[in-house]
Amino acid sequence: MKCVFCGGKLEKRNVTFHYEDDNKYLFVEEVPAEVCKSCGEKTYSPKVTDKLLKYTKEEFKPAKTIEVPVYSFEQ
Ligand SMILES: [Zn+2]
Repeated sequence: MKCVFCGGKLEKRNVTFHYEDDNKYLFVEEVPAEVCKSCGEKTYSPKVTDKLLKYTKEEFKPAKTIEVPVYSFEQ
């Protein structure tokens, strides 16, 4: 398979997926993906994408919870 964005070579790797919307921020570790060697774009199989969607809907219990500091940039 080739990268749909740049045509670069894809490499199978486990990555950390992150998701954010207005008030939610979550990570899923060790997600099997194909990562482009040229541009770094991550591609997930349809099966993996389905499962990732479930994580974003909080259908699973998190393995751990981390605190994320949020700063307001001072000009
Ligand atoms: Zn690429």
